[in-house]
Amino acid sequence: MEKNGFCSLKEKLENSVKLSKEDIKKIMNIVRKEMNFMIKNNIVITPKNYERWFYIFCNIVENEKELNDLEILGLFKEYYDAPYDEVKEKSGATDEKQKGMVKKLVRIADIIEKKLAELINTIDNHTDNIQSHKEEIEKDEENINSDNIKIYLKKILDELDELKKENQKLTQELKKYHTDVLKLQKELVAARSEAELDFLTGLVNRRRFERAVLEMINEYQTRGYPFSLILMDIDNFKKINDTYGHPAGDNVLKEIALILKTFLRANNISARIGGEEFAILVPGASAKEGEVVAKRLKKAIENRVFTTPKEEIRLTASFGVTGVKKDDTLETIFDRADKALYRAKQEGKNSVAVIE
Ligand code: GH3
Ligand code: MG
Ligand code: MG
Repeated sequence: MEKNGFCSLKEKLENSVKLSKEDIKKIMNIVRKEMNFMIKNNIVITPKNYERWFYIFCNIVENEKELNDLEILGLFKEYYDAPYDEVKEKSGATDEKQKGMVKKLVRIADIIEKKLAELINTIDNHTDNIQSHKEEIEKDEENINSDNIKIYLKKILDELDELKKENQKLTQELKKYHTDVLKLQKELVAARSEAELDFLTGLVNRRRFERAVLEMINEYQTRGYPFSLILMDIDNFKKINDTYGHPAGDNVLKEIALILKTFLRANNISARIGGEEFAILVPGASAKEGEVVAKRLKKAIENRVFTTPKEEIRLTASFGVTGVKKDDTLETIFDRADKALYRAKQEGKNSVAVIE
């Protein structure tokens, strides 16, 4: 589906070829057009969308195409044969490559940013110089008698004025570039983490967590290194929202996330995988050892006092625990942990259930 020569920059970017000044200029142009278009058309700036749209605008810029938005969407469809705002991204190998690409683009944006800062500096200096020359000439002017020289000087001064205006215009344009690039950098960094982090709690999201579990299943199957999976669901959470309001509920979720972050060992991975559902991966642990971790967490939550705008409250959570097995897939291991969690709820909540 990907045609050769669609964007000559693509090969350079992928093969780490050193970029020329012209290339950087071109990238700057592409990124400006791309960001404009994506924002205008509400396209979410995920790494994948960002990368795809980059190549579309690369093609447009390289071939000096004049297209309207509809034609641009058409070009995308023709080239990728995929939805133009693909928020859902595949996991696996392509993911890594994509991340590499975005990293590269972030680095380029970095370079552009530095170059622009330098350029703006020199232009500012240059303008100062012009101003001081002008002042010198004006001072001398009063002492000069010959009309001819006066006319000549006037011409020079006018020219300097012109030059100064030009410079100011250029500086302004560059400053705008500068701000745009800064904004772009921020958005890129945000896009990168958005794809992996849960916005509310800062824990990793389901997508990233599933990838970690997959990697660990692979570790187990190739090296025999085990792990256990804990699913945790807050008990009667709906009541908290109903009683204290949604924002108070959000705060509780953040506090729970903080407990997970501080309570667990650094090599554990904790995630928010749903509204009030969390998951923990414990490397090196059997189901039994996972159970110990879950019980400690259960206690930590039970003993904690949570604040709401109205009063201080207490909470409990239920846990489902399992350990990795020989022929596990993402589905089978989550399935067991889910069943265990269901059992914990059936047993009256605030409890830990294990399916080995
Ligand atoms: P159970 O003990 O059986 O788990 O009951 P529960 O009330 O915790 O579970 P239920 O699935 O009935 O309700 C979950 C509630 O979580 C419903 C929803 O309003 C709330 N919720 C989901 N995501 C969020 C969120 O991001 N913020 C807030 N404040 N509430 C959320
Ligand atoms: Mg739930
Ligand atoms: Mg619940």
